Formats: sequence, structure tokens, C-alpha cells
Amino acid sequence: MEKLTMEKIVNLCKQYGFVFPGSDIYDGFANTWDFGPVGVELKNNIKKCWWKRFVQEDPNTYGVDAAILMNPRVWEASGHVQSFSDPKMDCKKCKQRFRADNLIEEYSNGSVAAEAMSNEQMQDYIAENHIKCPNCGGFDWSEIKQFKLMFETNRGTVEENKNMVYLRPETCQGEYVNFLNVQRSSRAKIPFAIAQIGKSFRNEITPGNFLFRTIEFEQMELQKFCKDEDSIKFYDEYKSKAINFIKDIGLSDDKLRFHDHDKLAHYAKAACDIQYKFPIGWEELNGIHHRGTWDLSRHSEFSGKNLEYLDPDTNEKYIPTVIEYSIGADRLTLAILCEAYDEETLEDGTTREVMRFKPFLAPYKVAVLPLVKKFHKEKADEVYNMLCKEFMCTYDETGNIGKRYRRQDVIGTPYCITIDDDTINNNTVTVRDRDTMKQITINIDEIVDYINDKIKF
Ligand code: ATP
Repeated sequence: MEKLTMEKIVNLCKQYGFVFPGSDIYDGFANTWDFGPVGVELKNNIKKCWWKRFVQEDPNTYGVDAAILMNPRVWEASGHVQSFSDPKMDCKKCKQRFRADNLIEEYSNGSVAAEAMSNEQMQDYIAENHIKCPNCGGFDWSEIKQFKLMFETNRGTVEENKNMVYLRPETCQGEYVNFLNVQRSSRAKIPFAIAQIGKSFRNEITPGNFLFRTIEFEQMELQKFCKDEDSIKFYDEYKSKAINFIKDIGLSDDKLRFHDHDKLAHYAKAACDIQYKFPIGWEELNGIHHRGTWDLSRHSEFSGKNLEYLDPDTNEKYIPTVIEYSIGADRLTLAILCEAYDEETLEDGTTREVMRFKPFLAPYKVAVLPLVKKFHKEKADEVYNMLCKEFMCTYDETGNIGKRYRRQDVIGTPYCITIDDDTINNNTVTVRDRDTMKQITINIDEIVDYINDKIKF
């Protein structure tokens, strides 16, 4: 297969209903994307697997779904109002805006850790190395300035500063502010975690690369509250849980690596990313961060509420240390799309495009295909109505059966069920496997168990 490009994935996504450009009929709205009928199923399945693994299967993790709009004091306590910004630089020639740290990292092929540099050091490095504008090739830079990444809006009818609220730039504050609510209502004992899946918003300086960096995205993340002496143990535990999860849903080992952070926040003992080899190169897929007692201490201070935990066994009172594990649902969906894409040359010399999703991630588990519409439609409808109560199914009666198989291959449907004369006469169907293209015959009554057995996560 030729090297996969982002352009190819973007086009395929639009053509087959995975992802459309946001506000498409208005010529789009840059860096927003709408999930289509097939994409929404894929992304939902990814989220369901994450929730199953990290919440359902862990008795010490509790889910929440917190409000996007929070009391603005939350963002003062978290430090976002003061410092959630990126170093931006404008090219005076073409007026394009860039992140200074990204320019350096790209120029040095990742060998210089710009995240650990001050703005002055970055400015000097760019000047000394004569780093040019990637857009126009010019060398006429503005000074580096910090650019605020939070979207601001107004609550109420009067546009005043005091009514200013923010679209949350990360979901985790919803867990911190609910630490006591969850602990008390669930009688949770430390160590325990609070997890959430939800939307975040960032006014990114350099959004782009399709779903990789957008201004509105979903995060799946959890905060583990623990004793400080156990924190490194949990940090290591979440590193392995995080990488095992993404491998289990289909990302391959040779496209994954850990990347330890060079610069740590003053309260942190460790931080790392897991990077994935996207068509644009190695990039962050998720983060695991040791956050010390920073978050709960700050919220105690700003809210005036005591967020200490009282250990019922030892009567010890303390602010728990937090280990954060966070992964973007959209970025992970992009990784899964890239990983699943395959072009296979068949024996007759033709090629087929196949999305080799793990069956539990596939948007539709089954396609029901009447061999000849005129004769088999009624029975096919009956089978479809039975199966759609169990899992997502699709139905296709147009075109020859070969073309219909191809359409299902490219959206990753693992099983095609063909309804023919044998179905009417003997109550049997053929089930065609997406990957092997082999067909087997089974009784209609066996389909549900057969498929359910194959789509487990
Ligand atoms: P990056 O360095 O790529 O900007 P980050 O370190 O700011 O990411 P976190 O704040 O740790 O990211 O967010 C956790 C996860 O949320 C990221 O690993 C990524 O998967 C996802 N994410 C963050 N920003 C975006 C974005 N703008 N678009 C899509 N996903 C994002």
C-alpha cells in the first residue's frame, strides 16, 4: 500500500460519512468537523470501550458528567486565567500565525525541547538559526507574545467583564470540584478515581491536520486521588493501562512510544505522553501527569472549602495527590482511522479499500443484503428488524453483490449477511467475513449469538 496521507483519510471520511467539514454548505468553519452517520458510531464505540475499561471494570472509579460552563473562579484557581496561553509569533510578511515552540521543534526535528525554553530563549534560537516562515519562506517575525487559549463568552444579557464565563479548555476541573461530592455520595475510599468524557474548547494558534488539533474536541480522562507515597506506583500503573487500552482497540505496537516531559510543573513528580505515528509524524495521543496536590489545594484556597480527605481507618487528614490520565476522543478516532485503512490487492488484480476496525469498534456490525431485491427483500427486512434490536446494522439492496461488499469493506463492516433462496427455503444465511472474505452458512436463529460472540471488547 502507498504511504497513507492525511488528505486521503480526509477525503475518504467525507465520501463515506465518517466526518464532514463543519458548516460545510457555508464553505466550512476552519478546524471544526462534524461526525457523520458512520463516524459517530465509530467515535461512540471508542468512547464506550474507554468507559468500559476505565470505569465499568474498575470498582474504584466513578463517572461524572460536569457542566461545560463553570464558575469563572474555577479557572482562576486552576491558573488558566493567568497562564493558559501559548507563545505566538506572527510572520509580518504573510500574516500567518505560528507557535514559536512548534517552529523550533519542527526545525530541530524534535531534538530541541522548546517547551523548556523561555520566550527570550526561543526568540534568540529562531534568530540565530534563521528559521523561516513555513508558509511564505520569509524571515520577518513579530516578537513572541503569549496568546490566550480560552474562549470567552458572556453570561446574561449584559456584556460586562464581570459576566465573563469561559468554555472549559479541559474537562478535569469538573472532577476536582466534585471531589467531595463523589467521595461522600459514593462513600469512596482513597485511592479512587473520577472519570469523565466531555467536550473541551481551545482557541488553538495552529489548529489543523484534520481531527488532530481542533478548537472543539472531546476528552476522555480520569483523575486518580491517592496518598502521595503511592503516587508513583499509580503513575506507572496508568502508563501501562493507557498503552494497553490503545493497543487493545487496535493501534500497533511499532507506532506507539512513550515520551517523557523535559519540563515538569513545579508541583509534579513526573509527566509523559504516549505518541502515535500519525501520517504527519510522531505526535501526542495522550498524557499521563503527576499533578501533586496542586489542584485540590488551589480549589480549597479559592473556594474556601476544605477539600482534605479524612482517612476513616487512621483518622489522618490530607489533601490527596492526583494522577491524571487524559486522551482526546477525536485524536484517538483519527489514529484508529489511519491504522485501520488498508488497500488490498485481490487475486484478480483489482484492489479493495478496507477499514480493518476491530469488530467491536466497527460502526455497523452487520450489513443485511438481499441477493435479488425482487425476491429477497421481504425476508431481508425481517432479518434486519430482528438484528437491529441487538446491534447497529445497515441494509443495502442496490447494485451487484460484489459492489455492495466493497461499500461495506470501506466503512469497516465486519460481517455481511446475504439473504437468498436458501434463506426462504431453509432459514439459512451466508455470513461473509470482511477480512478473509470467506463465507459460511448459518441458521437465522444462530446469527445473534454468532455476531455477539465476535464483537466483544
Ligand atoms: P498538545 O501538546 O497536543 O496541545 P496538550 O498537552 O495540550 O496537547 P492535554 O491538555 O494534556 O493536551 O490534553 C489531553 C489530550 O487531549 C491530548 O493528549 C489530546 O489527545 C487531546 N487534545 C488536546 N488538545 C486538543 C485539540 N486541540 N484537538 C484535539 N485533541 C486535543
